[in-house]
Amino acid sequence: MRALPGVSAAPGIAVGRAVVLDRTRGHASNLVREADRAGEADRARDALRRAASDLETLASQLRTEGRGDDADIVETGVLMAMDPELIARVDTLVLDSGIEAADALREAAEQTALELSVLLDPMLALRADDVRSVGRRAAAHLKGDALHVSEGVLIADSLGPADVAELAPRVRGIALAGGGVTAHAAIVARSLGLPMVVGVGEGLLEIEDGEEVLVDGDRGVVVRQPDAERASLARTDTERRRSAREIAIARRLEPARTKDGYRIRVLANASTVAELEEATRQGAEGVGLMRTELLFLEAMEWPSHAEQVSVLRPVLSRLQGQTATVRLFDFGGDKTPPFLRGITARGIAVMLNEPQALKAHLSAVVDAGRGADLRLLVPMVTSAADIRSVRDTLTLVLEGRGAPMVGAMIETPEAAEAAREIAGQCDFLSIGTNDLTQLVLGLDREQSRKAPVLDPRVLGLVAATVQAGHDARIPVDVCGEAASDENSLPIIIGLGTDELSVAAARVGQVRQWVRELDFAECRRRSEALLGQSGHTSRQRV
Ligand code: PEP
Ligand code: MG
Repeated sequence: MRALPGVSAAPGIAVGRAVVLDRTRGHASNLVREADRAGEADRARDALRRAASDLETLASQLRTEGRGDDADIVETGVLMAMDPELIARVDTLVLDSGIEAADALREAAEQTALELSVLLDPMLALRADDVRSVGRRAAAHLKGDALHVSEGVLIADSLGPADVAELAPRVRGIALAGGGVTAHAAIVARSLGLPMVVGVGEGLLEIEDGEEVLVDGDRGVVVRQPDAERASLARTDTERRRSAREIAIARRLEPARTKDGYRIRVLANASTVAELEEATRQGAEGVGLMRTELLFLEAMEWPSHAEQVSVLRPVLSRLQGQTATVRLFDFGGDKTPPFLRGITARGIAVMLNEPQALKAHLSAVVDAGRGADLRLLVPMVTSAADIRSVRDTLTLVLEGRGAPMVGAMIETPEAAEAAREIAGQCDFLSIGTNDLTQLVLGLDREQSRKAPVLDPRVLGLVAATVQAGHDARIPVDVCGEAASDENSLPIIIGLGTDELSVAAARVGQVRQWVRELDFAECRRRSEALLGQSGHTSRQRV
């Protein structure tokens, strides 16, 4: 047993066989001798056939479980694995260039993925990750043991949010050598209820494929070859989380109200149908943050109105009559699609530089959100002028359609300081503690090992924002990860926050925590902490 310390990025404990992702990426492949190339190409083709057959089995399993939509998606992987063009690419790489079968499979999949990702149809562009996954799966078969990502704990150097979303349904937990707790890959892991540890360092990549490993997302540690006691604790934890989820589902209709009667609305951070369904099962009262940009991370140009509606509508159509808070594209940072590579701006500043793209986006969101209680949320606001500009463009595109509510994300120090003026232009405010914490304290969001929202410098700004919203008689919510953190939650509630928006998988747990709290006590605790920053909290609207 050997413990590798890292940082907790998503709670829970998972144990299973290690699936080391792309360990070989970038290594120098041995050249296959000419005489052996035909045999090597046969091995590669055979691996593709076996990957296709895995996927077929998985698809029929999903169908038996009544998960027809998921089965359809998996079946496209079967077609990809049998695609003559992919096979021809693998042959060329092995026969002409002498590349080893496993590398040829990954490389051919990468080439196909790159071609797909330049297609204008965003749904096809999203398939790029599926081809990569087929390549990895086939390459894994060459190791002689049928390596099923579905059964493993994923070990990688780093992952993007799209990678996690792609792999999550098939892994039990994730450990990264690099990565940060507020990076979007970690947010996706939390939203899907996957334990995750990041920042473990290079030692993590020494883990062998198939070795038993334990990812402890509560303590931020990875354990190689855990002893029986530890492995059994992990299984108990998985069981505990499963039963907590069942309790949350059973209590989904009970309101989230503190013991002394303070009512809080708990909404979900959800961008996909899968997340929305999970959030609804756990009693979410709508969506408080739909991160639209996550759905277009592979886009090669600004998506058209029609493309956006086709991607957003499947989620928003399920929110008829319910709060649907759609955040405008928050591109930039670790959410920069290929067509925006190199930009330094982030969030609404990117869109305000592209008035036509902003118009198409606003119009698509309004169309896709018809029937829902639609709220538009503006990311990375720095001044009230940002909101005025968005409202001006919105007026141009509405053409008789009902006006949605407009709110600002308060997640930059500039916005928190101008919260009063911004609140005057808004129908609601939403505090993004992830960016706010990192920006106020000068941390690097992608690498940061902590998100200390209770630091008095951050908390003072959160309190001032809640006050500014309430003075303007508009509701204030918190949609950053701090809203689902057991330590920060009582303080955030004590400040008088009206709504929380949390990862889909956390909705039930947060609702339960609210029921166990005493608001008067929360208020006392938040005031004591605020005393250190010179702020005081006041009444809600
Ligand atoms: C935040 O910054 O707290 C937030 C919710 O936005 P995101 O995590 O998507 O940047
Ligand atoms: Mg943010």
